[in-house]
Amino acid sequence: MKHKIIIHSPLQQRFLDKLLPWWPALKGSLAEVRKPCIRPNCPACARGDKHPNYLLAFTEKGRRRCLYVPRSMIPVLKRALENGRRIEQLLYEMGPILLREYRAQNPAQTGPAMQVKRKKIHPKS
Ligand SMILES: [Zn+2]
Repeated sequence: MKHKIIIHSPLQQRFLDKLLPWWPALKGSLAEVRKPCIRPNCPACARGDKHPNYLLAFTEKGRRRCLYVPRSMIPVLKRALENGRRIEQLLYEMGPILLREYRAQNPAQTGPAMQVKRKKIHPKS
């Protein structure tokens, strides 16, 4: 099945242009855990060093889940997490942009001027 993307507006095109280089992307968190192995008489475990492993924690259908991550995939996953934060930031920016665009195209329909005072919390990425 072929998917055809129909571009409706220059804004949508800009949105897609921004998203494309942000691949791969994901949401979750990487954690390093140290666990003993199952080998008998393992020198690392005997020293108490155990074995470092990486876990990717994420939410699936509201449930917290974890998967082991191969060491060679760590750089890719770190980049994907960073891209995920960029995409999330972009989505937060879309609300005001869409409203501004709508108001520019429908000047008669703007609502009453309203100042909403809220503390801004920007997650550092
Ligand atoms: Zn061991």
